[in-house]
Amino acid sequence: MLQELDQLEAFESAALEAAVAEREALVAAAAAAAGASPESPAAAGPHPRPPPPAAQQLLCPVCMGAFLLQRAGVVVCPRGCLQLNLAAESLSLGDLRARLEQVYEEHRATGCGGSLVFRMEDLFGSRSLTSSCAAGCPHYRVVA
Ligand SMILES: [Zn+2]
Ligand SMILES: [Zn+2]
Repeated sequence: MLQELDQLEAFESAALEAAVAEREALVAAAAAAAGASPESPAAAGPHPRPPPPAAQQLLCPVCMGAFLLQRAGVVVCPRGCLQLNLAAESLSLGDLRARLEQVYEEHRATGCGGSLVFRMEDLFGSRSLTSSCAAGCPHYRVVA
């Protein structure tokens, strides 16, 4: 009888120790999880490939307020201020971006600090994207 009581106490003690150990493990796990959660985005790391928007999206040079859309070779501004049939000239949106960068670079090279203004004009019977300077310098280019 007494022996059984000892065994019961031993069992209860062991059960209590197990419960305490389990609780400590849970607390440790929770702490580890809490500690790990701020690291998990870092663990995922910077995306291996650069985000595509910067590479593929081009801000409308006319309104500078919307990204150009390309539909079957025709580039349009969703606000309706620009429409270019790039396919007719075998151009891509990337080519248009390169031309715009070239125009900016050419204008910068003149030493003029004015900002460029792009607009659609009727030239030679077709709509063309042209660049001129807001400061009134002689810069003028037909971009596309
Ligand atoms: Zn626009
Ligand atoms: Zn200028």
